[in-house]
Amino acid sequence: MDFHCHLDLYPNALEVFREAAARNEFTWLVTTSPKAFVATSRVLGGAANVLVTPGLHPEIAHERGGELDLLLEQMALVNAVGEVGLDGSARYRKGYDVQCHIFEAVVERSAELGGRALSIHSRQAVFDVLKILDQHPGFGTAVLHWFTGTAKELRAAEERGCWFSIGPAAFASNSGRMLAAKLPRHLVVPESDGPFAQVGGKAVMPWSAEITARHLGQAWGLSFDEATDLLSSNARRLLQMLRSGNQ
Ligand SMILES: [Zn+2]
Repeated sequence: MDFHCHLDLYPNALEVFREAAARNEFTWLVTTSPKAFVATSRVLGGAANVLVTPGLHPEIAHERGGELDLLLEQMALVNAVGEVGLDGSARYRKGYDVQCHIFEAVVERSAELGGRALSIHSRQAVFDVLKILDQHPGFGTAVLHWFTGTAKELRAAEERGCWFSIGPAAFASNSGRMLAAKLPRHLVVPESDGPFAQVGGKAVMPWSAEITARHLGQAWGLSFDEATDLLSSNARRLLQMLRSGNQ
C-alpha cells in the first residue's frame, strides 16, 4: 500500500502505474494541481485500487491560485483530497498568504461537503495547518504526510487524531528516525512520496511499504512481521475512512 504517491510524475508513469496497480492493494495518487488532476484521471484513472485525488500543492500555490475554484468543484466528486497544505520554509514563504487562503478554502469546503480525507503537506507550518483544521470541525480526516515537525507539534497533531503517512526517505537522517519512533503507532500508514522522495539517488517506488515496515519495526522495537501487521490494520482502517470520506 501507498498512501501518498505522485505516480503521474514518474518519467515512465504508465509503467509505474501498471506495476503499482498489480502489486499494491491500494495506492493513493495525489495530484499537485486541479488541471493535473483532470489530465491524470484521464490517463491513470482506470484502476479500482488506485485512488486519484485533486489537490493544489503549496509549493506551486502562488502560480496556480487561479485554479482554486476548479479544485473546489472537483472536491464534490471525490471523497479525498491531496496534495494540499502549507509550506512555511524560506523558499516558499513569499506565497504563504496565498497558500493559507487556498488551504482554508479547501478545509472549509471539506466540512461543507460532509467530510473529506486530506493528504496534507505541513513543512514548517504544522501549527498553522492545525489551526485551520480546528476552525472547521467536521472537515473529515487529516493525514499528515512526511511529518517533520517538533515533538510539541507532533503531540498537538496527535491530540487532534491526525494520521501520519511516512516512507523510506524519512528514515535517511538521524532526526527523521528519532521522530518516526515517536509517531503514534495506531495512526501511521506507509507512503512513498515518489518520485520526489529518493533514497540513494533513486526515486522511492509505490511498492516500498515493506521497507517502511522494516524501518518502523526498528524504530518501535517490533519485529518486521509485527510492524507489517500493524501497518496493514492501520491502512485498512484509514482506507475505510478514505472511501467514505468522513471520520
Ligand atoms: Zn508529496
